[in-house]
Amino acid sequence: MQATRKEIDFNNLGFDFIQTDWMFLSDFKNCEWDDGELLPYGSIELSPSACILNYGQGIFEGMKALKSKDGRTTLFRPSENAKRFIKSAERLVMPPFDESEFLNAVKKVVRANEHFVPPYETGGSLYIRPLMIGTEPLLGIKPAKEYKFIIFCSPVGPYFPEGFSSINLLISKKFTRASLGGTGFSKTCSNYAGTMKPATEAKKDGYDQILYLDSVFMKYISEVGSANFCAIINDTLVTPRLDGTILEGITLKSVLTIAEKKFGIKTEQRDISYLELFEDSCTETFCTGTAAVITPIGSITYQHKTKTFNNQEPGVITKKLYDTLVGIQRLDIEDEFGWVQILE
Ligand SMILES: *Cc1c(COP(=O)(O)O)cnc(C)c1O
Repeated sequence: MQATRKEIDFNNLGFDFIQTDWMFLSDFKNCEWDDGELLPYGSIELSPSACILNYGQGIFEGMKALKSKDGRTTLFRPSENAKRFIKSAERLVMPPFDESEFLNAVKKVVRANEHFVPPYETGGSLYIRPLMIGTEPLLGIKPAKEYKFIIFCSPVGPYFPEGFSSINLLISKKFTRASLGGTGFSKTCSNYAGTMKPATEAKKDGYDQILYLDSVFMKYISEVGSANFCAIINDTLVTPRLDGTILEGITLKSVLTIAEKKFGIKTEQRDISYLELFEDSCTETFCTGTAAVITPIGSITYQHKTKTFNNQEPGVITKKLYDTLVGIQRLDIEDEFGWVQILE
């Protein structure tokens, strides 16, 4: 949708794309990136034989700009996204985009579109999407020699417009998301096309998403489509070991730090059998991500067995972690870890 700022109802935003005024674009040619520039948001021209269109050579990131109560615009740990972007590029043999250039470009785009950052009271944010694609026309399967780095953004509503509430997940042994030695750890465009069918089927059966298992044993929890998984088992915060099949979430990393350093909760990164989730010792589960923030899981179903957590109410620890994370992000709580960058 195309809209001017005046037409946007910041109180009723969802997660649909809304065009803003400016995007950033940089080209890689003859082995180097050009300086890049802000351009009015618009279409780009691509050859039908561009590498991204035929072989999916593309990577992306997801970040948010938020308003604090006093109207400042903030970014949350943007250097972590810049570093992960380089790691993703490396996996697909794409040229790295310098960390400080990445941060400068993100700030430029947000500043240019600052009037699209939803006000503090709405709970919304400006979702930022850095994207890199192989644009060289080619036929043989090989890394492109030409690339585009693009940053666009879109105002989005709060993830919980009707209040903090939980989702229902289905464990599938029919589909997996990633395999050992593959690209699961990186944010490659091609990791997501394959999750659309499992998600569509799960939704048709009344679930919000799939909870994926590992692809070797079909036994250990992997993650939730586009969010990481955590469980409280015997009062310990447990999350799957990052074995290369799981996206290394910045929200997850932050939640582990908050749990340990702020609340003294023990954390463990280990293999978690899905069977553990059905035991009484597993008292809360939730997932984490830039879009999902911290989303409580109300129930998990495997075949005909369903475990319901806290009558579908968010667990006590889940709620505490959510309030603290969002509080830090919006500068309502002191940023003791130095995570928040204020846009000058
Ligand atoms: C982006 C993403 C996440 C969450 O990562 P954050 O850095 O917390 O946003 C988790 N899983 C997948 C598959 C993702 O693409």
